[in-house]
Amino acid sequence: MSTFSQKLIAWHGQSGRSGLPWQGNRDPYAVWVSEIMLQQTQVATVLERYPRFIKRFPNVKKLAAANIDEVLAEWAGLGYYSRARNLHACAQQVMSDYEGVFPSDPKLLEQLKGIGRSTAGAIAAFAFHKRAPILDANVKRILARLFAVEGAIQDKAVNDRLWQIADELLPSKPKDMPVYTQALMDFGATWCTARKPVCLSGEKRCPFEKECQANLSDQVLTLPHKTIKAKSPEFDCEMLLIRSGNAILLQKRASKAIWGGLWSLPETPWEPKSDLSQRNTPNLKELVEITMPTEKASAWVKACKRFERHADVKHVFTHRRLWMHIWVVEMNQPVAPLGADFQWIPLAQLGRYGLPQPIKVLLQGLSLVRGDGLKN
Ligand code: SF4
Repeated sequence: MSTFSQKLIAWHGQSGRSGLPWQGNRDPYAVWVSEIMLQQTQVATVLERYPRFIKRFPNVKKLAAANIDEVLAEWAGLGYYSRARNLHACAQQVMSDYEGVFPSDPKLLEQLKGIGRSTAGAIAAFAFHKRAPILDANVKRILARLFAVEGAIQDKAVNDRLWQIADELLPSKPKDMPVYTQALMDFGATWCTARKPVCLSGEKRCPFEKECQANLSDQVLTLPHKTIKAKSPEFDCEMLLIRSGNAILLQKRASKAIWGGLWSLPETPWEPKSDLSQRNTPNLKELVEITMPTEKASAWVKACKRFERHADVKHVFTHRRLWMHIWVVEMNQPVAPLGADFQWIPLAQLGRYGLPQPIKVLLQGLSLVRGDGLKN
C-alpha cells in the first residue's frame, strides 16, 4: 500500500501546478523571496511581481546593499510591508552572519528575520532537500481534515498536533522533498480548498477520499474549526494633500506603524469612527498643528491659496477599517518642512518612493499628479 507522500507525489504528477517561475529553483535566495511574496498574496499577482523583484535585486548581496526605500517602492501594492522590511533586514543578516550564504538547517533559517517555521521548512526542502515539514494555512486545513483534528486552529495544542502529523507524513527519501512540498501546497490551493473541496463538488475524485476522516464523518466543511472573529474596528483620520507648484509634502511613516517605512500624506492620529454628522469641520491651522511638529501653523495658513475637502476614502485592512478624509491644500510657496520625516517631493520623482496603495491610487486619480512619474 502506498504511503500518503507517495500518493500525493503521484497526484502532483497528474494534477499539480507546473511552470511557475520559482518552481524547480534550488537557489535559496529565489526560493526565499518567492515564499515570502506568496504569503498573503495571490499567485496571479506574484507571477507578475516576482520576476520584477528578482530582476531588480538578483541576489542577497544586492538586496542587502539596497536602500530600504528602494525595496519598499518595489514592494508597493503587495501589502503587508513588514515582509519587505524583513526581507531587507534578513538579507543583511545573511550577509553579516553567514557571509552571504543561506544556512541549510531549518532551525538556523528560522532564526532569520521574517522567516517562520513553515517558511524555513519550505526553503530547506526546496533548496537543500531537507526533510523539514511545512504547515501553512492550506496544509493545516488538509491535515485537520485528513485526521479529523478538532479544536480551534489557533490553539497551541492543535498546532503542535498538526506539526507532529506533518513531520510523520514526510517522505523517507530527501530527494522527494521538493516535489512533495510543492504537491502539498498545490493540493491545498486547488483541490482540498476551504469552501469547495473536490470531494464535495464532485468534480474530481480525491485520492484520499477513502481515508480522509472528515470526508468519512461528514465534517469536511466544519474542519478545521475556527475561532469567531470580532467585528473589525473602524477609525477616522484627516489627511493633508499639500501641494506647492510641482511638489507635494509627504511624511515617512514610523517603521513599526501600519505602512511602516512608506511615504504617505501627513495625517491626524486615528480615532474611533464617529458619525459624519457629528464630526467637526477642522480648519487648516488646526490640521497643520496636529499633523506636523510646527510652531508656525500661521505661516502655512498665510501661504495657502486653496484649502478644501477632496474626498473620503475607505481602506480595509485585515483587522480594521480606516476612513481617510482627504483635504487638498495648495500653497503659494513651500514652507520649510519640520523634521527629517517630512519632505517636499517633486511629482516627477514620486515613482521612486514607496507609497501605501490607497495613497498611490488617490494620487494617480488626481489630474495634478497623473503622468508625473507615478506608474502602476
Ligand atoms: S476527501 Fe475532501 S476533505 Fe478529504 S482530503 Fe480529499 S478533498 Fe480534502
